[in-house]
Amino acid sequence: MDISAPPEADLEGVLALARPEIRALTPYSHAQWLPALERLHANELPWQVDGPVQIGALNRYPEPQPQALLDAIATLYGTAPPQILVGRGSDEAIDLLTRAFCRAGQDAIVITPPTFGMYAVAARIQGARVVEVPLDARQDFALDRAALLQAVDASVKLVFLCSPNNPTGTAMPNADILQIAAALKNRALVVVDEAYQEFSPNASLVAQIAQHANLVVLRTLSKAHGLAGARIGSLIARPGVVALLRRIIPPYALAQPTVVVALAALSAPSLALTRERIKLLIAERERLAAALTPLPCVQRVWPSAGNFLLVRFVDARRAFDAIAKVGLLVRDFSSQPALAQALRITIGSPAQNDRIVEALRS
Ligand code: PMP
Repeated sequence: MDISAPPEADLEGVLALARPEIRALTPYSHAQWLPALERLHANELPWQVDGPVQIGALNRYPEPQPQALLDAIATLYGTAPPQILVGRGSDEAIDLLTRAFCRAGQDAIVITPPTFGMYAVAARIQGARVVEVPLDARQDFALDRAALLQAVDASVKLVFLCSPNNPTGTAMPNADILQIAAALKNRALVVVDEAYQEFSPNASLVAQIAQHANLVVLRTLSKAHGLAGARIGSLIARPGVVALLRRIIPPYALAQPTVVVALAALSAPSLALTRERIKLLIAERERLAAALTPLPCVQRVWPSAGNFLLVRFVDARRAFDAIAKVGLLVRDFSSQPALAQALRITIGSPAQNDRIVEALRS
């Protein structure tokens, strides 16, 4: 597969942020993908396995970045296939970015806690420093843009912005994110994690990548598309950034059954159902927020643009136990800074949401 991308005038300053050894790396040369020929070049068995479920020819290594999946995902997110890297969830994209851009013991990432935990974990695995610019809990977890820009010194290669943010539900204004990307041009990549975008009133920033060479957007089929078990996440960026990351993604990252399942989920009838479910989830989120707000045990229900609510209770432990008593598990964030007495409740089915309210009412 030819992964070279045509040079882009405004991309050199972004690629210069990558680790020099990754730019110089000769990637693993995987078995050529030439479906017209019979395969005797990858040390596979010539026979398919027997089994109750036959999803493609599992005796064969899968296509590394399946073209049909790239095409479907490009259509879904309004971009072009060379701007997409598909991997095992957005988690893999976070890991690849950190490994490609951060030199151990030298470079850093910026995160805005409370936020999704994997950015910091990936950085620590890589030996990169984690610079924290906390969201302001008294202002509904708004981002302090001035503090963020001040925190970006020459060692910072990646700025992770999660919008809508997990676990607070906050959607950052797109204009703010673009202002940050412009201010950090040629200085750092701005990685916008849009895992929950489908539940948000804000538009995706994918269309803005054309204007901002340092902008990277993460999307996933794990949330709104209901495929968390399949592990399909997409990194969307300039073709040069995607080509760089294709150098270090494991050669056969996507299992064939996963690709088949993802393609089915991206068919027109499945997408129509997904859109209906998103509408229902959003309506349920607002219904649950309205039902929880007046309860005596609830102190605050934060506005959410995701498929979850962050709720501060009078006594989070008691609320957690009451919810567990009716057979439901929520996430306790009360030990995290700025999240004292807070639980994160994923929006469930209407019946599950009713059970939460009932449990907390009594
Ligand atoms: N980003 C955010 C903000 C998340 O909340 C999650 C999952 N909890 C992920 C990324 C990881 O998603 P994926 O299943 O695509 O790896």
